[in-house]
Amino acid sequence: MQEATARIRLGISSCLLGNKVRFDGGHKRDAWIVDTLGKYVDFVPVCPEVEMGLPVPRNSLRLVGDPANPRLVVQKTGEELTMRMRTWAHERNAQLAREELCGFIFKRASPSSGMERVKVYRDVPEEQTAKAGPPALSGVGVFAAEFMRAFPLLPVEEEGRLNDPALRENFIERIFVMQRWRALLSHGLTAGRLVEFHTRHKLLIMSHSVEHYREMGRLVAACSGMDGAELAGTYQTLLLTAVSRLATVKKHTNVLQHVMGYFKKKLSPDEKQELLEVVAAYHESLVPLIVPVTLLNHYVRKYNEPYLQGQWYLQPHPLELKLRNHS
Ligand code: SF4
Repeated sequence: MQEATARIRLGISSCLLGNKVRFDGGHKRDAWIVDTLGKYVDFVPVCPEVEMGLPVPRNSLRLVGDPANPRLVVQKTGEELTMRMRTWAHERNAQLAREELCGFIFKRASPSSGMERVKVYRDVPEEQTAKAGPPALSGVGVFAAEFMRAFPLLPVEEEGRLNDPALRENFIERIFVMQRWRALLSHGLTAGRLVEFHTRHKLLIMSHSVEHYREMGRLVAACSGMDGAELAGTYQTLLLTAVSRLATVKKHTNVLQHVMGYFKKKLSPDEKQELLEVVAAYHESLVPLIVPVTLLNHYVRKYNEPYLQGQWYLQPHPLELKLRNHS
């Protein structure tokens, strides 16, 4: 069912690709991102500190001051770089807006690139730092903050959080959804194409938010005659908001039971029993999601269910990524 589409373009903190751009001349290459995800993605690397003109190697930077609104400073000299970084980020984000990005992976804990929980130090002279108490884990890297302000609904994650299987699957699913949405827009949004997109994403959206799916359905039903740009903007906002809600075991179970409804009359008593048992085992976290989904895909093929064959939920991303092998 996977259809050939353009490769996903994904922004990424440059050091995660193995580029030696860190303050100490090193890198933070992430093997899963580069070697596995990299088979499906074209990366757009960004190193804020180097691109705004700092050398490699360089004195390290850090966030200091008000935890709610910290400043970016050079640790050794105290030189403040906040406005310089924000001005650069504003221009860089204007370029990135033309890159058709489907998401961004940030380097965790960086005062420039960290997405959350970056250390914010007390604003005291360096020799008093040890006595000043622990830093607050409340900061956001200055570039990351500007990026998320410029693209508020674009999927973003940090490489550290991608080690969590559920967060990883959620992020990857979202970037594939974004890729399909961008592909639709590139062909021109028509009522027919929107209905098809919405229909094929029904189960996937329901696994995140049934409420959003219903609201999107009302929008699609009333879309003829609407201004195209307004329709695209409203649908995109609902779509990206919906899939940003984490899919849970309970939500997946509801969707799996919904899918079983399509087979009610076709399955033999044995097949029905097996499916019920497998879904129940998933619900109790005894088997990963891939198990009921594989069985459902088997019946979709066996009983030639064209509606379900078109559902992205049953194959939302390449199997090789092994994203549904967790409970
Ligand atoms: S964390 Fe960000 S600023 Fe630091 S080296 Fe990596 S890309 Fe550059």
